[in-house]
Amino acid sequence: MSYVLAVDHEKRPCAPAPPGRARHLLNRGRAAVYRRYPFTLMLREGERAEEAAPLRMKIDPGSKTTGLAVVNDATGQVVWAGELTHRGQQIRDRLLARRACRRSRRQRHTRYRPPRFLNRRRSSGWLPPSLESRIANTLTWVERLRRFAPIGALSLELVQFDTQLMQNAEIAGVEYHQGELAGYEVRQYLLEKWGRKCAYCKATQVPLQIEHIVPQVRHGSNRVSNLTIACKPCNDAKGTRTAEEFGHPEIQAQAKAPLRDAAAVNATRWALFQRLKATGLPLETGTGGRTKWNRTMRGLPKTHWLDAACVGASTPKTLKTAGVGPLLITAMGRHARQMRRTDAQGFPDKAAKATSVVGGLRTGDIVRAVVPARSVKAGVYVGRIAVRATGSCNITTATGTVQGVHVRYCRPLQRSDGYTYTKGAALPPQA
Ligand SMILES: [Zn+2]
Repeated sequence: MSYVLAVDHEKRPCAPAPPGRARHLLNRGRAAVYRRYPFTLMLREGERAEEAAPLRMKIDPGSKTTGLAVVNDATGQVVWAGELTHRGQQIRDRLLARRACRRSRRQRHTRYRPPRFLNRRRSSGWLPPSLESRIANTLTWVERLRRFAPIGALSLELVQFDTQLMQNAEIAGVEYHQGELAGYEVRQYLLEKWGRKCAYCKATQVPLQIEHIVPQVRHGSNRVSNLTIACKPCNDAKGTRTAEEFGHPEIQAQAKAPLRDAAAVNATRWALFQRLKATGLPLETGTGGRTKWNRTMRGLPKTHWLDAACVGASTPKTLKTAGVGPLLITAMGRHARQMRRTDAQGFPDKAAKATSVVGGLRTGDIVRAVVPARSVKAGVYVGRIAVRATGSCNITTATGTVQGVHVRYCRPLQRSDGYTYTKGAALPPQA
């Protein structure tokens, strides 16, 4: 079961309540709903809060989706889980559109002026806005959950593989069957080194296997420098031939060079690491190899939030995940600032941007609409509102979008915070 986050009457985080207790508190009027997403209760004044054991927040950063999990290290209970979808591509697209608009405007108005470029200074540690937004999203959620749960430590999957181990592997020749964990680190390392594609046919998005460049039957070693990544058809077709005999002499040469700059493979993760360290919470880091090993050893399926729960050496022996489901969080941005909208060629053609507040509501607010029986749209709808200047708005509920609900029937439940939420599928309760 997912636990329910709780704060006391002075908004200090309390121990998360099991769902049964949360229902009991709500039914008896001993607590009120403080926030819908993430679902958080506020205990009444004088309500005795349970002793709050410190929890660990675990993060598995991804380029599209970041897995989040709050875990009680002492009991192994996954208290809360989330999957945060970033809007990196959307930001990139919008910046490109803005650039095109500006360029076209300059063409129209000041064509005698040569374009200027590379005339901006970048501060050290600058990251592209699309990456910056991923870091900001993650930090937002760390800060948010700290307000609703007693989080005492952080875990972050920092790198794909153990750099130390792997550098030794290439230089001193550590073999890939040394220890259970090493096998996982080597796999992650090889995936990075060979660009996550089959070294022979360059296929991506297929199951990839560890492949011996000089096969074992020909006395090829298990050393990392003799390993590559191949899809099953290529692996089978190659059989007992060496890469050279298979028609790929370049593989043998490429295998000799160790992966350069293994530490800086992922700049975003390191930037996130620095900023999480600045929160002052103790920060544990783990490798992707360790995450996968932890998850496989515990027999858990691959999802972003379970990966997050399995980050780091601190992962409890048994993770209690029965009935836990993630909150699916999607970054939406807050508003467009463009005042004059344009056609595809960048010429202003539409009406100026309409007001963003209609009847006291904004796009992105979570509302409850009670439409009276005399109306065509009669019913009760709870969801995210998209306001229209006419007052006739759209509400996206769990089951679909309802159009043309007037703003006068809507009452806000939670104000827009730049994200939209859906409930993810929960793991089955254990038998
Ligand atoms: Zn292949």
